[in-house]
Amino acid sequence: MAEYIRIDKKVDTGSIKTATLVSFVVFALVLIAFLWSLMYFFMNTYYETLRTQEVIRTANSIETQYNQHADEFDRFAVQTAGANGIYIRIDSETESHVYDGTSAIHETGTFGRDIQMIADKLRNSPLESVTATRMSSTSDENSRLIYAAHIGGTSSTSTLYIIAPLYPDPVTIRIVKNMLMYISLIVLTVALMLAFALSGRLANPIENLTKSATELSKGNYNVKFDGAGFTETKELARALNKASYEMEKTDFYQREIIANVSHDLKTPLTMIRSYAEKIIDISGDNPEKRNSDLHIIISETERLNRLVTDMMSVSNLQSNNVELHKETFDLVEAAEDVYESFKVLSSSEGFEMHFHPCKSTYVVGDRSRIMQVMTNFVSNAVKYSGDNKFIDIQVVRTGTKKVAFHCIDHGMGIPSDEIGHVWDKYYRTSANHERGIEGTGLGLAIVKGILNLHSAKYGVNSEEGKGSDFWFEMDSVKKPSPRSKTNTKEERSSSGE
Ligand code: ADP
Repeated sequence: MAEYIRIDKKVDTGSIKTATLVSFVVFALVLIAFLWSLMYFFMNTYYETLRTQEVIRTANSIETQYNQHADEFDRFAVQTAGANGIYIRIDSETESHVYDGTSAIHETGTFGRDIQMIADKLRNSPLESVTATRMSSTSDENSRLIYAAHIGGTSSTSTLYIIAPLYPDPVTIRIVKNMLMYISLIVLTVALMLAFALSGRLANPIENLTKSATELSKGNYNVKFDGAGFTETKELARALNKASYEMEKTDFYQREIIANVSHDLKTPLTMIRSYAEKIIDISGDNPEKRNSDLHIIISETERLNRLVTDMMSVSNLQSNNVELHKETFDLVEAAEDVYESFKVLSSSEGFEMHFHPCKSTYVVGDRSRIMQVMTNFVSNAVKYSGDNKFIDIQVVRTGTKKVAFHCIDHGMGIPSDEIGHVWDKYYRTSANHERGIEGTGLGLAIVKGILNLHSAKYGVNSEEGKGSDFWFEMDSVKKPSPRSKTNTKEERSSSGE
């Protein structure tokens, strides 16, 4: 048993802890990979777009300066070239001015070709400005954006050229890479910490529940399940606590059952043995005494027989292994038969029995089984009446098309916390044990089985010390026509039932 609920200390790939840990680490790695691929694959495109926008903005401000503040232009151009790390060239009809701030581009020697290329493009374009990119095959750092525009108004023939590095400078790249490295480390650490914390929070209550379940499986019913943490584990703990309580009860009842059954079997066996010995040793030669002893032996074997029959009935009823012989019969008449049989029996013991029938009411069912139910209720009432020997048997019509049988006694009653169990097999109330009343605890279990087979409602109203009202209710049917097959009292007596 302990084999499969053992908590393995080795790394368990199927455990919540491992699963959470792996999920978080995978998530962190995917995030990191995404950031790095963003950096490698998309940064250049993104940077190119940004750079183009920036160059156009710079070109606009250069043009404004060129048109409006020509005297300040040289200083402005030098500053702009230096601040933006770009190469600026302005070609007018007569001269050409260069402002070089391209410390980031090493192949400045090829700028002449770039200018030539963009000048051709501008000439052939209907637009006022054009851009082009030159990707260096030797190093990213030499890739550049080339811009050309007509400036100085419509009459002017001046052209502005700008060459800007298309790749962030190495220092920026190093800083970004460093930042990314730190971000990756932080993401991974946070993911691991979260994974450990969460997996612990998830797995700990389950591990505790497993430990408690292991204890329970060893028969320790005092163990308490604690699902602290999540609603689901709390619910599970509540369900397990309930299951453990039920198991404890079942275990207790099973012990009781074995004790009761062995006691019930042992008592008649001891009696049979003692009386048989008595016949051999003492009364064998005296026919009168011998017969009386033999009668006791016979009645004890009958008791044994009843017990074994009851046990078989319960087990048959529980496994639905019972065939009902259904017929339409008068419940009032059947109840009266039961009453008559008890009236004879109990008058000798001082019982006062009353029968309150309603008008004949027919039901469909197994008459002898229903009589068994009524007999059980009445014999229990006799057994548990105590000193108040007043018993009331009633058959009443309830609601539309319903009829109920009640057996009311004014005896010891049933404690409210035990009332739900009286229908359980082998259950006997605690008071019943104290008083040493004989019984097997099987009668009401049989009753329950029979009434369930008839889909009848049943129950008990009881108050400790005041008495009990055991009842069942069946659907009433129309009185069958004389031609249809029903067993009337006369027919039964003529057939010898
Ligand atoms: P048994 O009478 O053989 O013990 P039953 O199944 O007929 O078994 O009844 C189960 C238990 O229910 C009884 O042991 C008794 O404690 C309780 N009980 C049944 N009927 C009554 C009653 N009329 N008054 C008080 N207790 C009852």
